Amino acid sequence: MKSITKNNIRTSFYPLWQQYNRYKAYLLRYPKSGNGFEAISRAKMIEYNKVRIHGAKPIFCYNPFVNLFFNIYGNAIACCRSHTNVLGTYPNQSIKDIWFGGKINKMREHMIHNDLNMGCEYCKLQIESNRFHSLPSIHSEKFATDKHDVFPQILELELSNTCNLQCVMCSGRVSSSIRKHRENLPPIVSPYDDAFVDQLEEFIPHLKMICFYGGEPFLIDLYYKILNLVIKINPAIKIYVVTNGTVFNQKIANLLQSVYFMLSVSIDSLKPELFSQIRVGAKLDEVIENFKKFQKLTNGNTIISHTPMRLNWDETPDIINFCTQHNVRVGLSYVEGPAKFALWSFMPDKLDEVYKFYQNVQFESTANHYTAIYNIQVFNEWKEQVKFFRDNNRNILLSYKDINQSFNNSLIQVQLFYKRLYEIIPNNCITYEQAMSVIDYLVIKKPRIPVHLDMLNNIVSDMEDIIKKGTVVKAKQVLKDTNSFTEYLQQYLNEDLFWAKYY
Ligand code: SF4
Repeated sequence: MKSITKNNIRTSFYPLWQQYNRYKAYLLRYPKSGNGFEAISRAKMIEYNKVRIHGAKPIFCYNPFVNLFFNIYGNAIACCRSHTNVLGTYPNQSIKDIWFGGKINKMREHMIHNDLNMGCEYCKLQIESNRFHSLPSIHSEKFATDKHDVFPQILELELSNTCNLQCVMCSGRVSSSIRKHRENLPPIVSPYDDAFVDQLEEFIPHLKMICFYGGEPFLIDLYYKILNLVIKINPAIKIYVVTNGTVFNQKIANLLQSVYFMLSVSIDSLKPELFSQIRVGAKLDEVIENFKKFQKLTNGNTIISHTPMRLNWDETPDIINFCTQHNVRVGLSYVEGPAKFALWSFMPDKLDEVYKFYQNVQFESTANHYTAIYNIQVFNEWKEQVKFFRDNNRNILLSYKDINQSFNNSLIQVQLFYKRLYEIIPNNCITYEQAMSVIDYLVIKKPRIPVHLDMLNNIVSDMEDIIKKGTVVKAKQVLKDTNSFTEYLQQYLNEDLFWAKYY
């Protein structure tokens, strides 16, 4: 006889629960556009609600009502993906002033109308491509409320970038090692101090969940201070830590056993060499060993985070299988940038190859298992997003249908602007003819593609700017010799930058 486990119960009820939400999705009343708000369409909300993990709801995201995220610069935002909409800054403002302040209330007004035009471009793209499982609103769904006057139930902390790794797709903003060794920049001075921890005290009793990001959270001293305080004041809380899986010791083991912890361990490849190539400074066998310890110490509450990129997209199905075999859920992380690592900046043909590869994937037969069902859904949404990129990129290229005509028009503009420019720049630069022959060599003699057109348009707007402002410093720099002029043009001949305009 099948034993009664949490997983079996979940597996039995999950299809019923999904069915119920599929009906409910049609019955809910959704906010409509109007009065200055642009609501997500009813059709899209129905699609989302049919698969929404914590059940169908009328509002798309509850983060501004439930969640507060602090980043390394002291900025408070609604979630990890809404960096452009700063709601307040510590220490200029207290946590309380930020949470009960005017800016966040404005964002709540937008959210109550399902309007994502306040820093939520990331989610706009995800819902447009029907990828719902990795939305940053998932945690707050559990505690959904639209009240304005209650304390936050989730705090997300990215207070320091202290990190021992230099992952290829990462940046110095979240890795002190990258900042030092790859970017050659001075350390970021964290604004968070004891006064911040003191201010947190008032918030901790109201929290259902607290999340620690980095850097590598287990290397950040301030986090241990906050953790001890949280465990003392609110031992029923859930603590979520996103770790690179390289740090483990007895102190961490004791901590993990003291209250409810959930961990996310990053695994981007199961091939040792590729793993170390992506997660520079880490070794696969050590991370897998730590992952197993974490899984045991958290009673199975550990998930694997995997970032499909140009380097490892063909391994995603293997990672999904690995997760299912270890009975852990997978989270597929999305590369917003740099474009050169992301799949959205592939040409349509390459995306078609990726999509077809994914279409041929057959997962092992574990269909009645909750984790397996979940992981396959996550994969399927990712696969469909690849298709979305393919079709979108195809349409973008097609929109350049008059490329020859546009190219010729832009070229005339370039020539006119350069003639005007040469009237104001000094003589000790390359000549007009030399400049034109570089352009000729780089683009005119090649088959015309949108990136070439972009280059011409970009140099026109650069020249326009220089002529308008009467400043010749930049012109002198780029026209110093043919090498520097070629380098200047090549920065605009970048396919990754071209696609980044659209994502
Ligand atoms: S970016 Fe998405 S998850 Fe974050 S606040 Fe906006 S809608 Fe919510």
